[in-house]
Amino acid sequence: MLEFTGAQRCLEIANLMELTRLGRTDLMVTRTSFGLLPLQRVEMNEAVRILNRACDAGITFYDTARGYSDTEEKLGRALSGRRDSIVIATKNAGPTRSQLLAELETSLRNLRADHVDLMQLHNPRALPDPDDPESSYAGLLEAREKGMARFIGFTSHSLERAIAAVDSGLYDTVQYPICHISSEEDLDIVRRCREAGVGVIAMKPMCGGIITQMRPAFAFLRGYENVVPIWGIQRMSELDELLELDADPPALDDELLATIEQDRRELAEDFCRGCGYCLPCPAEIPINMAARMSHLLRRMPYQGFLSDEWRDYMLRIENCTDCGSCRARCPYDLDTPALLRKALADYRIFYREHTRGPLSQ
Ligand code: SF4
Ligand code: SF4
Repeated sequence: MLEFTGAQRCLEIANLMELTRLGRTDLMVTRTSFGLLPLQRVEMNEAVRILNRACDAGITFYDTARGYSDTEEKLGRALSGRRDSIVIATKNAGPTRSQLLAELETSLRNLRADHVDLMQLHNPRALPDPDDPESSYAGLLEAREKGMARFIGFTSHSLERAIAAVDSGLYDTVQYPICHISSEEDLDIVRRCREAGVGVIAMKPMCGGIITQMRPAFAFLRGYENVVPIWGIQRMSELDELLELDADPPALDDELLATIEQDRRELAEDFCRGCGYCLPCPAEIPINMAARMSHLLRRMPYQGFLSDEWRDYMLRIENCTDCGSCRARCPYDLDTPALLRKALADYRIFYREHTRGPLSQ
């Protein structure tokens, strides 16, 4: 029988940061937690430095995935010596029992660990049949029985599937996109999870990078005691800002509420979250950036997006054959080709206004 002491030790080590329990599990995690997806874009040594700084500061919960290229390896390299001080979540999209377990074995090797604290299904297209002995759900159960994972969870970009996972009673946690521009319908998942004793992990607390100010995002999510946001960090400066906010959490005052209202107004319902599930595109359009270009141009320093490289990427939209594969894969049911056409039309205007020249090859 394996003995697990990580959660208890976290309590002692992270006594400077506020903790919360992940649903019915015994995992006590810092309310400010770390999502590793953006560390894919960071070279190994810098990623290790960022992770060590986060751990030194007291962050105890780290969420990664087999699908996030080498981030498990980065986490393993940075923090395997402090395994008992941290809570690790990973996920994979293995569609069957055996594929899920094989992927999990790879995760454990990368993480240099003998178990993860939370093993999640990575955005499956449907809930697996719990009675099927060869389903991915059976793989989760086997992982738990063998001591490869302590708790099991479900991740989804689909509200319908996330609710079904909560209502099934089969999962300890649900991971779903939650941020300050989420709809009331989306936010209701927080209540459902609380009532069902399911832990809520908020992915994309900055809405996939579209939200540019961390302060209102942080203040908003702090209002939900049972929600654990996993902040996607790829720069030391972002980590520092996050730690400052955690040390002195801002109140949701009139100024921050006004910013939130403005974000809600500007980011209408149908906008691309940049998740990339629609890729690859046969026309090689970088859809996850191109479809939200209008927001990127106006909410971030725009100069880089007017480079020759980005001009060429955007012009690839003209080669879209309307094959529909992106639309079929988008978990937000977006009409992606239409969004892209709109984005290109807007890009043409913006390009002309800011470069004094027409958009052409
Ligand atoms: S519909 Fe257009 S943008 Fe979407 S995958 Fe097909 S070619 Fe690419
Ligand atoms: S179009 Fe949909 S699937 Fe593609 S990046 Fe945007 S939100 Fe994600």
